[in-house]
Amino acid sequence: MILALGGNMIKKAKEKGTFEEQYKNVNESCEQIVEIIKQGWNIIVTHGNGPQVGNLLLQQELLKNKIPPMPLDVCGALSQGEIGYLIQQILLNKLRKNGINKKVVTVITQVLIDRNDPEFSKPSKPIGPFYEEENKDFPMVYQSGKGWRRVVPSPDPEEIIEKGQIKDLIEEGDVVIACGGGGIPVIEENGNLRGVEGVIDKDLASEKLAEELGIRTMMILTDVDNVYLNYGKDGQEKLREINLKKIKGYQKQGHFPKGSMGPKIEASIRFLEKGGEKVLITSPELAVDSLQGKSGTILMI
Ligand code: ADP
Ligand code: MG
Repeated sequence: MILALGGNMIKKAKEKGTFEEQYKNVNESCEQIVEIIKQGWNIIVTHGNGPQVGNLLLQQELLKNKIPPMPLDVCGALSQGEIGYLIQQILLNKLRKNGINKKVVTVITQVLIDRNDPEFSKPSKPIGPFYEEENKDFPMVYQSGKGWRRVVPSPDPEEIIEKGQIKDLIEEGDVVIACGGGGIPVIEENGNLRGVEGVIDKDLASEKLAEELGIRTMMILTDVDNVYLNYGKDGQEKLREINLKKIKGYQKQGHFPKGSMGPKIEASIRFLEKGGEKVLITSPELAVDSLQGKSGTILMI
């Protein structure tokens, strides 16, 4: 199973993102992951990194006259290490406590993208800190009431470079943490890989990995218990079990906005169209229940 953890599960909206807060949040998610492993599942954990890489970018900005700032791809790798380490240690401790003899390994993951992806001429993903004024260092967008923010391309994932290594680890029975923050976007030039400044959506990257490894179940854990129609509006309706045809119809009707539920639904559709059997979308607290069909939103062919 691929289990995709939202970056907002690791640093919740109202939190600052201290070590203690992130440790506590990862600990709560790992409680659930252990329960799932106890049921016999092999697991690849993928995760977002929005809040963490946002803080790293702010650090680069504030200290740029003292310490050379690192580009976004390096910050992505730093965040994969930061979050991967937390999950790796906390999950290993819980596995040991439960007498489960598995290792947990984080794979720094690069994801191949197409340098001609339309996102490069029209970047759409706002990242990092808010600024009071637009600056000329990079393309920016104004987000109402909050200020200016850098935007970077969010290209489609084409291939997970380390998929073979991830597969080997899973076949060994290890728990693998991969594709953190959607993976580090790289392009290929004369046979060489090179990092680019962009952000791949973590749900789409998770789907690509699932597809490449022939994984049949995907669980997306976020900060809502279910997917809804008319979310936050009149006539809001909880979706429990839904088939591919219906979900495509709702997607067309615009129920799932870009940058939040949109990519989860797009990833689910791609997954089900490429051989996936089941996608569960719910919150970490309900993860185990949703596997038993008791809660969450279940998407199937
Ligand atoms: P993550 O960090 O897990 O990727 P996101 O913030 O990107 O989290 O996406 C989850 C958010 O999507 C929820 O907090 C919710 O506010 C929002 N959302 C938008 N549309 C819907 C919908 N139709 N049903 C449920 N949640 C939705
Ligand atoms: Mg998201």
